[in-house]
Amino acid sequence: MKSSAINADTAVAAIFGDPVGHSKSPAMHNAAYAALGMNRTYAAFRVTSENLAAALRAIHPLGIIGVNLTVPHKEVAARLIKDLSGEARMLGAVNCVVNRRGALRGDNTDARGLDRDLRDLGCELRGRLAIVIGAGGGAASSVLACFRLGANRVVIANRTPARAVALARRFSAKGAVRAAGEPRGLDALMDSKLLADARLIVNATSMGLTTGRFARVDYSSTPGDCLFYDLIYSREPTPFLKPALAAGRRAVDGAGMLVNQGELAFRLFNRVAPPAGVMRAALFNELGRTQS
Ligand code: NAP
Repeated sequence: MKSSAINADTAVAAIFGDPVGHSKSPAMHNAAYAALGMNRTYAAFRVTSENLAAALRAIHPLGIIGVNLTVPHKEVAARLIKDLSGEARMLGAVNCVVNRRGALRGDNTDARGLDRDLRDLGCELRGRLAIVIGAGGGAASSVLACFRLGANRVVIANRTPARAVALARRFSAKGAVRAAGEPRGLDALMDSKLLADARLIVNATSMGLTTGRFARVDYSSTPGDCLFYDLIYSREPTPFLKPALAAGRRAVDGAGMLVNQGELAFRLFNRVAPPAGVMRAALFNELGRTQS
């Protein structure tokens, strides 16, 4: 359905964020609606932190079927919404709000989105070490995905070590994973002995996106099969991935994770799966990239 065909019967899904102008979710979801011929549309709303509670309350009165949440709302929403999926509760973050006839249900599809992308990439973690850089919502999802893929150690390296400690504690307190995450500072990224064991290193910070530069990483100490994965996605290799490629390592950005979490959200909002490949093609088109 083209946007010109929006009419009084059109059902609306949306994303709330601040900023939100950069979001690729409208392109992905609207491509799936068009492919399925559904009279639905997906809009982006800039919702400030002070307006989040009011915007969430407006979902039902406005008849919005579901909402994705992005920066800076995921963690606050987990405290505002009472009915949370087990995964959203464990992560302390909501990226998906489903309107179930007026009752709002908070869910989180980020960990499953990353988990699926890592599996598609053939990233075998059983018995291996993964390093997650960051300690926010994206990092929490990454730690969970790593443990689900069988990692026996997950080091959480963050600029503010106390936040890494808090994240590691949250997982062990909830008994969510077999082993505890190991909190460190960013100095871990120059620890050649640690890096020599790493099968996967995930960037779950905004470093590179906002700063244009990344912390020092001893890329050459990692084994040849170490996968570098950046949750940030862009047209060109990110500042975290570029040196990894130069060192001959495999390096992948978060476009696949974004597509996967979007496909899972689409199912939750619309109770129907998006046609295979449509959301991915829409994202790659937006990024000006060829499919890979
Ligand atoms: P967040 O909760 O705000 O966490 C931000 C993290 O970045 C914190 O660990 C913070 O460290 C660190 N950080 C920020 N600026 C830094 C700097 N200059 N130097 C060192 N560390 C810095 O954010 P989030 O929601 O986890 O998102 C993190 C990134 O992942 C974002 O770029 C987001 O777009 C991306 N993401 C992508 C997907 C996807 O589908 N591909 C999904 C989720 C998130 P401190 O604790 O020290 O402040």
